[in-house]
Amino acid sequence: MKYSDNYTAMDRKLLMQKVQMQMSEKRFKHVLGVEETAIALASKYGASPEKASIAALTHDYAKERSDDEFQLVIRRDGFDLDLLNWGNAIWHGIVGADFVQRELEIDDEEILTAIALHTTGAAEMSLLAKIIYVADFIEPGRDFPGVKKAREIALINLDEAVAYETKHTLTYLIEQNKPIYPKTIETYNKWVANHA
Ligand code: GDP
Ligand code: FE
Ligand code: FE
Repeated sequence: MKYSDNYTAMDRKLLMQKVQMQMSEKRFKHVLGVEETAIALASKYGASPEKASIAALTHDYAKERSDDEFQLVIRRDGFDLDLLNWGNAIWHGIVGADFVQRELEIDDEEILTAIALHTTGAAEMSLLAKIIYVADFIEPGRDFPGVKKAREIALINLDEAVAYETKHTLTYLIEQNKPIYPKTIETYNKWVANHA
């Protein structure tokens, strides 16, 4: 894909190389799968394929940074200090978006927010944020019970795909006795729960 210069001064190849340097081969392959899926969803649902490509390529940019580095940035850059009670699973999106902005000089708010929300979702999500959230879950390299169903739903209704994924993730976390980040619960209440 040819980039417009509106969101990054890099071309796609250079951005890919910068991302690749930050992670294992396996994770980079996942990132390319998310990109392919996000571009397809963007075309289907009327989002910018270029923004989908950039957000997908960078969504896990910070995932292999050390806990020490995340903790330093959370304290230094004025993040909510409650984040210190969480770990890489929550940090790599919310705080990871900050690494993308500083190190890759990507400033588009919709792209940065899509990166920030890709793990937990949110009550309010842009079309791009929904696309990245869902593409991360259903990319071709994913293999878990329910992924086929998630892919089918994503072809029909993006909001229902958000709901399906949220319920699946929450069910898994509860099954494993993992702590639920409050934003994950907000996502559940907005996209899954039936309100009276
Ligand atoms: P990945 O980075 O491509 O592996 O995928 P994600 O960014 O979507 O998820 C990273 C990890 O965060 C997964 O293991 C999720 O199960 C986990 N996760 C998602 N929501 C929560 C939450 O609310 N609490 C906790 N503890 N983990 C979560
Ligand atoms: Fe992630
Ligand atoms: Fe991912």
